[in-house]
Amino acid sequence: MQEEIKTRGWEMQRVCYTEFVYVEYNDCNGFTYEDPEYGLGFGTECRKVGKWEPVERCHDELVYVQEPWYPGPGEGGGNGGGNGGNGGYVPIPPEGGTQPMTAPNARKIFSGDLTEEQWKKLENMLKKIINDCMGEGLYKELSKIFNSNNKISFNFSDKEKGAKYSPINNVITFNPNMESGTLLHEMMHAYQYKQKNDVDIWRNQTINSEIESHYTQYLYYCRDTVSYNESDWIKGKIRGDKRMLSTEKLEYYIDKKGNFYGDSINFEIYWDYTLLNCFKTYPGYENYKYTPYEDRMVNFNNLRKITENCI
Ligand SMILES: [Zn+2]
Repeated sequence: MQEEIKTRGWEMQRVCYTEFVYVEYNDCNGFTYEDPEYGLGFGTECRKVGKWEPVERCHDELVYVQEPWYPGPGEGGGNGGGNGGNGGYVPIPPEGGTQPMTAPNARKIFSGDLTEEQWKKLENMLKKIINDCMGEGLYKELSKIFNSNNKISFNFSDKEKGAKYSPINNVITFNPNMESGTLLHEMMHAYQYKQKNDVDIWRNQTINSEIESHYTQYLYYCRDTVSYNESDWIKGKIRGDKRMLSTEKLEYYIDKKGNFYGDSINFEIYWDYTLLNCFKTYPGYENYKYTPYEDRMVNFNNLRKITENCI
């Protein structure tokens, strides 16, 4: 998996971590009392209690930025490069027809010449995704688009460094070492593409799609810290991948359902000078195009759609 490391140099970045601090506060309960002078009255009884609370601390730090390995240049399929799809192989149910089909969720939207082990692996990743409300929303939307004779071809390949979705032949190519968050990312690309179903439109907004897919992926990890700590995402972050580092700051402006809630001036500065810059200059993304919608929230249309039924 190790590839050539290309030095990118030192860069000032905001580094945040969570610290627990002990805070004391007044725990007050209202009560009634009988005052001999003034009759029945109401009062408040307080006592000091303390608890540990998480506090986010941030500082600026020079970070050595290296060529990251995840998910690898060319990811996203924005250049439409042929990547050897395998055509529409339709999996055959187990013999007899009475046995329950293995990997039912995976087989519903994916096709591919996979071994039983691979189907199980894919199904397990999908189960984790469906277990998350947002992931379930995405899966349901994909199920409406991809079914019976029109499924996403799925390819496990060691040759692929990370994962990618190619809209032209509707193929996800996936390194077997990648995990469910990366699968969710690629499924999001398939969903994004199908909203317009037009390769030229897709090409003109590849950076837009990447930003939304990365943020969706990050939100998925946020709800499961165990997955986050073992994720492809954290590996990329440790290596100084600017996409991960810049995407995480989106949570200060866009909530988990894709709605804006932050400060709009700071958001514009962050969007134009940090986020876009990080994505446009990422090795392999240099030729990807960005469509500057006047309303930046257009970039989160799909995230809003798949979280419609989530709290
Ligand atoms: Zn992508």
